Amino acid sequence: EPGARVPALVIGTGYGGSVAALRLAQAGVDVHMVEMGMAWDTPGSDGKIFANTTSPDYRSYWLRTRTKQPLSNFLGFPIDRDVPRYTGILDAEEMGGIIVYQGRGVGGGSLVNGGMAVTPKRENFAAVLPSVDAGPMYSVYYPRANAGLGVGTVDPTWFETADCYQYARVGRKHAERSGFPFVFVPDVYDWDYMEQEAAGTVPKSALAGEILYGNNYGKKSLQKTYLARAKATGRVSVSPLHKVTSVAPAAGGGYTVVIDQLNTTGGTTATKTVTADRVFFAAGSVGTSKLLVRLKATGALPGLNSEVGKGWGDNGNVMCGRANHLWDPTGALQSSIPCSGIDNWAAGGAFAEVAPLPTGIETYASFYLSITKNPHRAQFSYNAGTGGVDLNWQTAWKQPSIDMAKTIFDKINAKEGTIYRTDLFGTYKIWGDHLTYHPLGGAVLNKATDNYGRLHGHPGLYVIDGALIPGNTSVNPFVTITALAERNIEAIVAADL
Ligand code: FAD
Repeated sequence: EPGARVPALVIGTGYGGSVAALRLAQAGVDVHMVEMGMAWDTPGSDGKIFANTTSPDYRSYWLRTRTKQPLSNFLGFPIDRDVPRYTGILDAEEMGGIIVYQGRGVGGGSLVNGGMAVTPKRENFAAVLPSVDAGPMYSVYYPRANAGLGVGTVDPTWFETADCYQYARVGRKHAERSGFPFVFVPDVYDWDYMEQEAAGTVPKSALAGEILYGNNYGKKSLQKTYLARAKATGRVSVSPLHKVTSVAPAAGGGYTVVIDQLNTTGGTTATKTVTADRVFFAAGSVGTSKLLVRLKATGALPGLNSEVGKGWGDNGNVMCGRANHLWDPTGALQSSIPCSGIDNWAAGGAFAEVAPLPTGIETYASFYLSITKNPHRAQFSYNAGTGGVDLNWQTAWKQPSIDMAKTIFDKINAKEGTIYRTDLFGTYKIWGDHLTYHPLGGAVLNKATDNYGRLHGHPGLYVIDGALIPGNTSVNPFVTITALAERNIEAIVAADL
């Protein structure tokens, strides 16, 4: 309530925020979570909470009047369409040279993501988080995160015969024929539920193509894991459709937090002010970075250091498709939940997810999202003219990612006698190099903060999300974001409360 004082305020309800809320509440601290997106707990007129990927509607995009699909074209035809402006679930945020996709709502990215829950190889960890001791990460915090998230792996026996994973088996065959290690990728999707979908005994979600705009069944989003446990403590409250716009030191100690209440077309219906003893920035890499950069530049938080806004990367994301021969169909039915990948990180700097193309028809296409060792790092800066925050990422900076992905797919194409698809991202365009699903960095651990996420210059302010990670995790990021949050909040609870 306006004017209230809260012991702990968490900005955002994604991975970092959910871990912070649960562990603070378990330590006896009352927590208030502020989330700019919707609650996503009420069905629409079609009886479903979430829209299907094949038929985006008002629920699908954050305050857009036209969809901005990651695959913009199919067989040469543009597939974007008009939708009513609404506080929908997927934000396609255009940041200069790159479109950054993010989840909006209670659960953050867990609402829209593929659920791929990958722990980096230990030999790669020092490059991911150089200041963090790998020992406890791999013995305590990664296991804790995997358990808390409900991570599991496809039953390898079922995989061999499931129609919905023919595309993954074709991906495996082509990878192995070219000498690349093929790996199963864990996921938070309920694998038993997916087997029941395939058997036709439950309503379909992964097998109905649901993913980008939410899964109505089967996926263990944060709403079903960390956030459910946090709410069950009785100490955590959540305000959806509330957006934090300012945090500044309060006269009597603590911080004054200014919050806009939004309606579903994005308008501000009320502005509220609360005081918080501690504030946890968990608005995601972009959300947290934009807030901190603006608050430093406008003098609200003058003590923040010059590392704020730096070290941002795209996790080296790049997409491509390959056109298979007619004897390698990938299946009309494809599970929207990927379960496998091709690991060429050590030799070529690329880890490629064998991704679905759930169009409902046979496309003879293999589709891949690669995570690459892209070295480029961008910086957020305040734009006094617009009052906004810009990111200086250059589209051309994707070239190293393309080169690394080619270490896998040029070789496979040569071996199989196949070519790249040129119809998925425009006309005659091979590489999906215009986007990222994995924004990381902007308030890097042990630089903008101490080695546990305490912001320099303002005691009681913390960063606890993907902004802490300097640009790359070598695999999909949310398990690392969760494990790092578990590590940091344990230290903060022990020493600061
Ligand atoms: P987020 O989960 O982004 O949460 C931040 C929250 O803060 C959001 O809910 C946002 O609305 C809210 N917020 C922002 N600003 C404010 C504000 N000012 N006031 C109030 N609230 C605010 N990762 C994987 O590991 N595996 C995958 O398979 C995978 N697939 C993906 C697919 C897609 C389409 C996308 C978009 C992402 C995917 N990711 C995947 C990435 C993963 O979802 C993110 O890395 C992760 O969600 C980041 O967690 P976070 O805690 O940093 O922030």
